[in-house]
Amino acid sequence: MKRIVLLGASGSIGLQTIDVVEQHPDEFEIVGLSVGKNISVLREILKRLSVYSVCVQNESDLPQLKEDFPDISFLSGEEGLEKLVTVEDYDVLVNALVGFVGLNPTYKAIETGHDIALANKETLVVGGDLIMPLAKEKKVHIYPIDSEHSAIFQCIQGAYPKDIERLIITASGGSFRSKSREELENVTVEEALAHPNWSMGAKITIDSATMMNKGFEVMEAHHLFNMPYEKIQVVMHDESIIHSMVEFKDHAVLAQLGTPDMRIPIQYALSWPRRYELNTGEPLDLTKVQTLHFHEADEERYPLLALAYEVGRRQGTLPAVMNGANEEANLAFREGKIKFLDIEDAVINAVYQVGRDEVNSIEDLKKADQEARKYVQEFIKDLEEGKE
Ligand code: MG
Repeated sequence: MKRIVLLGASGSIGLQTIDVVEQHPDEFEIVGLSVGKNISVLREILKRLSVYSVCVQNESDLPQLKEDFPDISFLSGEEGLEKLVTVEDYDVLVNALVGFVGLNPTYKAIETGHDIALANKETLVVGGDLIMPLAKEKKVHIYPIDSEHSAIFQCIQGAYPKDIERLIITASGGSFRSKSREELENVTVEEALAHPNWSMGAKITIDSATMMNKGFEVMEAHHLFNMPYEKIQVVMHDESIIHSMVEFKDHAVLAQLGTPDMRIPIQYALSWPRRYELNTGEPLDLTKVQTLHFHEADEERYPLLALAYEVGRRQGTLPAVMNGANEEANLAFREGKIKFLDIEDAVINAVYQVGRDEVNSIEDLKKADQEARKYVQEFIKDLEEGKE
C-alpha cells in the first residue's frame, strides 16, 4: 500500500488523482491533503476519503472544519503545508499545486526523504538547480506527472542515459494556434480558456495559449532528464496523441501515445515500474484518428517559448523572474485587467529589467519571485494609466 499526501486536491490534477486512487483501493491510500480556499469541494472530498491530516489556506476556515470533522487534524497556511509534508508518515508527495507556491513543499518533502510525483512544473522551472542535487543527495525519486515528461520517462525505461540523442516535446499550440499574431490583439479570456484537446485548470490553459507552458516544460525536461537545451526540441502536434518522443544515438525514435487523459501519467507516477488497469473511457483507436499532424514551432509566433530557452540557459534567478512575472500577468489577463498580448510584454520586460542573480537558497528564489511580481504590477499600472 502506497501512502500519499496530495497537495492541491481540489484542482484539476488533484481531483483526477483522487479518481486514480479510488480505482485502486488496495494499492493507494491518501493520508493527507491540502486545498486552497475551495472548502465546499474539500467537504465533498472528505465524504469520499478518510484522511488523517488536511491543510487549508486560511486559518479562519479551521474552527468550523474541526467541529464537523473531529477525527481529522487540520492545519493552515504555508506553515501548515510544510508541517503536512514533513511530519506526516507517508511514501510519496503528489504535488498538484499551481505556481511558485509549490516549490517550498517539494523542497521540504525531499529534505525529509519523501518521493515526489510532480505535477507542479514551477518547482523545477524555478528551483531545478536546487531541487535536483538535493533529490540525488537524499536518494529521492521525482516521478513526472506532466504528460510530456511522463511520455519521455516511459520512453527511456531501460535505456542508458548517455544513449539519448535528444528529447522531442510535442505541443498542441493551445487555444489560439490557428490565429496569427495580428488576430491575437483583441482575443477574450473565454476564447483563451477553450483548449482544443486538454481539459485543464485555468492558469495552465492560458499558459498553453501563450506557449509559456511549453517553455516551462523545456526547462522542466532539462532538469528532470539532465539534458542540455540544444538537445530539447519542441514540435507542434495538432492532435495531442503523441505526448512526446525520445531519439536515441542510432536515430531510433520512441514515442508514447494515448488519448489526452491526465489520469494515465498520474497513475504511472504512482504505479511505476508497474502498470495497473485504468478506467479512462475510450482507449486510443488510431483507425479513428487516422492522421497525425506535425509542424515546426515558430519562435516569432511564440516569443515566450524562445525566451524560455534563453532564460533556462542563463539560469540563476532568471527562471524565477520569468515565472513570477508570468504568474502575475496570467492572473491579470484572467481578471480582465490586461490584454492577451500584454502577458508577453510583461514577461519579456520583467526578464530584461529585473535582472539575474546567483541562487544559493530558496530565499534567493523567493526574493526574485517577489521582485518580478512587483515589476509586473507596476507595468500593469502603467498600462492602465496609459489607457485613460
Ligand atoms: Mg504538459
